[in-house]
Amino acid sequence: MKKVAVFCGSSLGFNEVYKNDAIKLANHFTKNNIGLVYGGGKIGMMGILADTMLEQEGEVIGVIPGLLRHEEVAHTKITEMIVTKTMSKRKVKISKIVDGYIALPGGFGTLDEIFEALTLGQLGIEQKPVGLLNTNGFFDNLIAQLDVMVTEGYLKQSNKDMLIISNSVETLCDLMSNYKAPIMTKVINKVVR
Ligand code: AMP
Repeated sequence: MKKVAVFCGSSLGFNEVYKNDAIKLANHFTKNNIGLVYGGGKIGMMGILADTMLEQEGEVIGVIPGLLRHEEVAHTKITEMIVTKTMSKRKVKISKIVDGYIALPGGFGTLDEIFEALTLGQLGIEQKPVGLLNTNGFFDNLIAQLDVMVTEGYLKQSNKDMLIISNSVETLCDLMSNYKAPIMTKVINKVVR
């Protein structure tokens, strides 16, 4: 993976463990020459991730909608800032430049972005790995909800299995690097019809 999108909180959370894992991920990216693509903010988990990578001269690309750019939240010192007209164009732009997606703890924005990436995979529009860094069991309840969706017939187990989950940065990135997307012809046929 050369460039990875990381979706994460515009807040830091109350427990230091989340911030520490954002730093660990940034360290892993710079050590392995992986460029960070993210929401372009300087606040919360986003800011920690970007700042840690910049301290080590890592590549940091922000993709921000014009609406957010002029607020005090936009990072001004990153390698490149791409400004899009809308929130939805931002997602399209991010998907064009990355080889995979990771979610760290966050709120609505983070879930919106990672589930869009999963939906692209489910429809076979993309074949990129999607990972959850489950620091401190943060996503345990969300994962349990996905199991409910499988049990109740709204999510195929094979689609749920596309989501790569680990509480270790190294393991998550190794699993993502070795990810092979399932063949999706049947699903595509179903959608086209
Ligand atoms: P949330 O998880 O609700 O804090 O939202 C964080 C996610 O949404 C990030 O991955 C960003 O891409 C996007 N986002 C939310 N707020 C901002 C902001 N103020 N500046 C840039 N991106 C943001």
